[in-house]
Amino acid sequence: MLLVKCLVVPPLDANCYIVAAEGAREAAVIDPGGAGEGIRDSVAQADLVVAAILLTHGHFDHMTAAVELAISSGAPVYAHPADAGMLARPQAQMPGVVDDSVPGVKEMRPVEEGDEIEVGDLRMTVLETPGHSPGCVCYLTEGAIFTGDTLFAGGIGRTDLPGGDFEQLRASLRDKILPLPDDTKLYPGHGLPSTIGEERRTNPWLADL
Ligand SMILES: [Zn+2]
Ligand SMILES: [Zn+2]
Repeated sequence: MLLVKCLVVPPLDANCYIVAAEGAREAAVIDPGGAGEGIRDSVAQADLVVAAILLTHGHFDHMTAAVELAISSGAPVYAHPADAGMLARPQAQMPGVVDDSVPGVKEMRPVEEGDEIEVGDLRMTVLETPGHSPGCVCYLTEGAIFTGDTLFAGGIGRTDLPGGDFEQLRASLRDKILPLPDDTKLYPGHGLPSTIGEERRTNPWLADL
């Protein structure tokens, strides 16, 4: 069984997930946006420790607490190298939004398609899903997928930001996401959770893939 806790973090209401195998102490924190304090409190309240920090992509709304959490926990930060430039300088993505004191991610463990990241009893498989940004990945674990801004309940990620590519996003959805079983739980980077089956039936962006 999977334990999933969702925190909605500022400034763009991104979903930060704390994920652990039930009964285990080691947790993965996926997309720590906002500040680290609330995330740390939540991890401690659940009697967990941060063992890995997983980033779905380099946009600032998903990563501003990554370095702070890495320092306080000693956990490595995993991300795709294609978004390394964005991660290193989050302030450059949207001037005036990210405080100058927020450290960019400069040290990370690069992930690529098929990588398996072990977090306690949990195994996270990396799917490369470029399109929303060049370095977008999804993390697949037992019966659940964390899609960042690649796929939402009822929507898909925008592709008008630097490095975005609509056709590439469509190919990622068709080749990596749609083959998953219908009962796979979907935990997106913004908004409510869903399932792959529900999105297959109702998400208009998937209809012609
Ligand atoms: Zn994004
Ligand atoms: Zn986002």
